[in-house]
Amino acid sequence: MDALALEIENRRDDLIRLTQDLIRIPTLNPPGRNYREICEYLQARLAPRGWTCELIRAHGAPGDSEAFPRWNLVARHRGGPRGECVHFNSHHDVVEVGHGWSRDPFAAELDDGRIYGRGACDMKGGLAASIIAAEAFTALYPDHPGQIEISATADEESGGFGGVAYLAGQGAFAHVGHVIIPEPLHKDRICLGHRGVWWAEIETHGRIAHGSMPFLGDSAIRHMGAVLEEMERTLFPLLMTKRTQMPVIPEGARNSTLNINSIHGGEPDLGPDFTGLPAPCVADRCRIIIDRRFLIEEELSEVKREVAALLEKVKAQRPGFTYEIRDLFEVIPSMTDREAPVVRSTAAAIERVLGREAGYVVSPGTYDQKHIDRIGKLKNCIAYGPGVLDLAHQPDEWVGVQDMQDSARVMALVLDDILHGASGDSPGRPPVA
Ligand SMILES: [Zn+2]
Repeated sequence: MDALALEIENRRDDLIRLTQDLIRIPTLNPPGRNYREICEYLQARLAPRGWTCELIRAHGAPGDSEAFPRWNLVARHRGGPRGECVHFNSHHDVVEVGHGWSRDPFAAELDDGRIYGRGACDMKGGLAASIIAAEAFTALYPDHPGQIEISATADEESGGFGGVAYLAGQGAFAHVGHVIIPEPLHKDRICLGHRGVWWAEIETHGRIAHGSMPFLGDSAIRHMGAVLEEMERTLFPLLMTKRTQMPVIPEGARNSTLNINSIHGGEPDLGPDFTGLPAPCVADRCRIIIDRRFLIEEELSEVKREVAALLEKVKAQRPGFTYEIRDLFEVIPSMTDREAPVVRSTAAAIERVLGREAGYVVSPGTYDQKHIDRIGKLKNCIAYGPGVLDLAHQPDEWVGVQDMQDSARVMALVLDDILHGASGDSPGRPPVA
């Protein structure tokens, strides 16, 4: 066993305790609980070990309030000579608990080599693994060239605007050359990026009238029905013809996809406690939310044009048809080149630690890489970390201790490779002091 591997092996109990401590701080989002607490916990751990820590609140970001301030931590370890900067970014927020748990979601029980709890896999296990990797590396090489950064950021689960987007906007990535985001993509896979997203609300209009005389009104629901029918007839088949070269997992997500998240028309739902009958009315409005995921080969403008053209076509065919469309959210696809330095370095480390070739994947959804790419202007970024992606957001979520140790070894080898310059690559950013 090499010296780095031994350092990580010796930290097994520490890794377990650290992961448990992080899970036991319930950083639920929404609404954004205990963000300050988890940042202070990490500061208390890292500062005595030679890390400079900065707690940064995303003032004015969506969701930021006095009750639920959006706190982030950026920790920096400077060594000796000038060199590259490697940054590990983890989100510290977790999604709601939901139903179906057989264990306490915040007890962080260790059972048969697995740690259970909300956020275990997504992604406090990855955060803990990156900390252990960096601590093992700096224990061996306290005067390493360049610098190592660890950030724990807010709100990834709700778009990352109070987290990575805010930090990137403040220039936090200007000097960073390499980013690893330890999201749970399996210890032997490198996630190169993600598909694009466009959410929009479509509303059709009608005219209210008595339900016994619908001919005196105009039904927005029937108009929306025509929109949905046109989607079934032309848009869904069109999307099935669009296939990407991105290695998206699961396989089905290599096509463009469209989900209709919700539909609401007519009178508001009166809820399960209401015992009366609804009033007979013709619906004067109907709304759907669409969630379109698009490929690196597609342009967002073209994606929007498809839907606009469909609505215009329905309008041309239906007397009285009017509509509105509102953009809600958009993300441009991001994909790092396989030859990028952080990718090559991680692939070599996976092969050395696990004895098999790294797999390359792209996420069907999206994560904070979008902000590092678009706002931070850094392409040399991947997601790599322990945990089984399918367990994310599920009841009885867990992370395997061995998986965390193996991926910590991979991350430590990446530090060794990049900071000690064995890869001979430059990410295109000047070395930092
Ligand atoms: Zn995550």
